[in-house]
Amino acid sequence: MCNQSLGKIITLCQKRNIKLTPQRKKVLEIMLSADRAMSAYDLLDLLKVSEPQAKPPTIYRALEFLLEQGFIHKVESSNSYIVCPHFHDPDHIFILFICNKCKRILEKHSSTIEHDLKQLAQQSEFQIQHSVHEIHGLCKQCQS
Ligand SMILES: [Zn+2]
Ligand SMILES: [Zn+2]
Repeated sequence: MCNQSLGKIITLCQKRNIKLTPQRKKVLEIMLSADRAMSAYDLLDLLKVSEPQAKPPTIYRALEFLLEQGFIHKVESSNSYIVCPHFHDPDHIFILFICNKCKRILEKHSSTIEHDLKQLAQQSEFQIQHSVHEIHGLCKQCQS
């Protein structure tokens, strides 16, 4: 699953004619294999294993690039980052269900919600640039 996603992202970069530098690729690899939300400092610690010279700006530049390309999302409430499972569509509206107990995050999409939001914005002549939808609660495993 994680290698598959990485392959798809590499192909997408080639299509968009953008460069996935070794560092950006490494950060993405770390995020894919962790399969959980990670802070910049979590990432820095893990990047340092293979690149001891890595500094916070290294991570922030890589994260900025990955965010711009829509490969990852920022989780505002915990100041961390997750890999987006729908990275082929960079303009999608996403809803994050965040488990308070195990911190697992589920990304969901809804064409109905997306449509309603766009309509509300249109009615108010508002141009959406970025939206955050984070729902906190308990995941299935943590409910019992
Ligand atoms: Zn997404
Ligand atoms: Zn949970």
